[in-house]
Amino acid sequence: MDFELTPEQRTLRAETIAFARRELGKDIAEADRDSRFPAEDWARCAAFGVLGWPVPARYGGRDLDPLSTMIALEALGYGCADNGLVFAVNNHLWGCAIYLLTHGTEQQKARYLPSMCEGRLIGAHALSEPDAGSDILSLRTTARRDGDRYVLNGTKWFISNAPAAGLFVVLARTGHDHNRTQDSLSAFLVTTGLPGLHISRTFTKMGLRTTPMGAIEFDDVSVPAENLLGREGAGYSIFTSTIEWERSFMFAGQVGAMERLLEASIEHANSRRQFGRPIGGFQAVAHRIADMKIRLELARLILYRVGWLKRESRIALLDSTIAKIFVSESLVQTAMAAVEVHGARGYVTDPGLERELRDALGGPIFAGTSAVQRGILAELLGVRGALSGEFSGPGW
Ligand SMILES: Cc1cc2nc3c(=O)[nH]c(=O)nc-3n(C[C@H](O)[C@H](O)[C@H](O)COP(=O)(O)OP(=O)(O)OC[C@H]3O[C@@H](n4cnc5c(N)ncnc54)[C@H](O)[C@@H]3O)c2cc1C
Repeated sequence: MDFELTPEQRTLRAETIAFARRELGKDIAEADRDSRFPAEDWARCAAFGVLGWPVPARYGGRDLDPLSTMIALEALGYGCADNGLVFAVNNHLWGCAIYLLTHGTEQQKARYLPSMCEGRLIGAHALSEPDAGSDILSLRTTARRDGDRYVLNGTKWFISNAPAAGLFVVLARTGHDHNRTQDSLSAFLVTTGLPGLHISRTFTKMGLRTTPMGAIEFDDVSVPAENLLGREGAGYSIFTSTIEWERSFMFAGQVGAMERLLEASIEHANSRRQFGRPIGGFQAVAHRIADMKIRLELARLILYRVGWLKRESRIALLDSTIAKIFVSESLVQTAMAAVEVHGARGYVTDPGLERELRDALGGPIFAGTSAVQRGILAELLGVRGALSGEFSGPGW
């Protein structure tokens, strides 16, 4: 087992950190206050290659292997103070591009991936609905076959990137209305601008405010059958086989954020004096910092393991579920600890630590809540009915 980064990975990490510090998140306080999507920073990410890191070169990407992609995303999260921008990038990559990469036809990849890498086409993942959150099999958006097209009707809620996006991966019901079987769902590539599709509202959020979030209304939206991902009825299996990317790679930036918070806390523990000495000299403060480091290193280890598994083309459902729970909850604890170490300086807006805490709190909810992940984990370990209980079919 080799835990050393390769020279190429070390260079990638260093260059990404330098790029992110130099070019991203300069006006994060104002952008957060105004819930403004940083379109210029998005274009900078595209120019640096971020939006095509895991995409093969023939579609305009950088062709990074999964482990190197994980390392690069961690570096982005470390160098970029705008967690919402990093989250928007992750939704684009792991909520949309990865579906094309793993299940798209050659024609679909060639049509959409180049402009996604260039940042001109922003991707989003449209799954959640007003009445379907964790319980994905209860979703109501329908896709009715009509000749060589499908007609979509329904509402999607809480969709990250939606107000800025041009391409959605949409999960819709092609089976019977009340059929909870897994083959009742299908996945579609849906572009904005189609008649009947509109963003019916935007959501203001506690954190990650620079990632826009919206609701999408489908009112007899006619989508060409060639935009079906995989075959009809394969939506659920496409989703479950792809979600392990989202539940791990999406959280690499959070490890970077944890390192940023750790460094800020060490600096403050050494410079802030009370009772005649640096506050780091008090065990209560020092132990908080030690715990931050423990969480950081363990979070990094589990994510790199998923990166390695995916590089070896292996299934990583169990490890990515552990990663999703551990990294997201660790970031919340670390952001909370950073606020505590900084006292009132952690609570007021200026140093940005309260924003870090607000940003962190979404992690245990999106991409499947912590409670549901623990149920999935228990089921993977052989505990029958741990997640779905009396209901038929798992959540996400
Ligand atoms: C920042 C953010 C970004 C998001 N972006 C997207 C996006 O881009 N696309 C998208 O489709 N969705 C997105 N979502 C929605 C997200 O996927 C859902 O919030 C999530 O799946 C949970 O659904 P829900 O909020 O409806 O909660 P519910 O499912 O209503 O759950 C409410 C509570 O009940 C608990 N619960 C529910 N079922 C169980 C169970 N079986 N066992 C134990 N506890 C259970 C949950 O853990 C939770 O505590 C986003 C959410 C957030 C916060």
